Amino acid sequence: MTDRFAAPPESPPRSPLVRECTGCGACCAAPDIHALKKPLGVPCAHLQPDCRCGIYAARPAVCRHYQPDWVCGEVAPLPTLDARIRRFLEIYGLEAETPG
Ligand code: SF4
Ligand code: SF4
Repeated sequence: MTDRFAAPPESPPRSPLVRECTGCGACCAAPDIHALKKPLGVPCAHLQPDCRCGIYAARPAVCRHYQPDWVCGEVAPLPTLDARIRRFLEIYGLEAETPG
């Protein structure tokens, strides 16, 4: 079975000790989430300043099914949500959407 916390060889993990969600908020801010009409690189409207979900009990299926993986080890140790967003997008070769 594949270890989803094992980073690919081209991207050695910043923190191989991260093997569970630390609640860093990056996956609620970096990816685009169609179910929430959330663009790339823009924090979800439900993401609270402490990086917790404001509608946790009623969050959509896409959020319920999201599973932490090796990317968490790359983004979670970074000090700010902005830095975590930038690194998350960089890993996937994406650029944040700009308004307009
Ligand atoms: S990026 Fe990973 S550690 Fe951060 S909130 Fe999402 S699942 Fe949790
Ligand atoms: S609804 Fe909650 S869990 Fe889903 S992206 Fe927004 S803040 Fe994150």
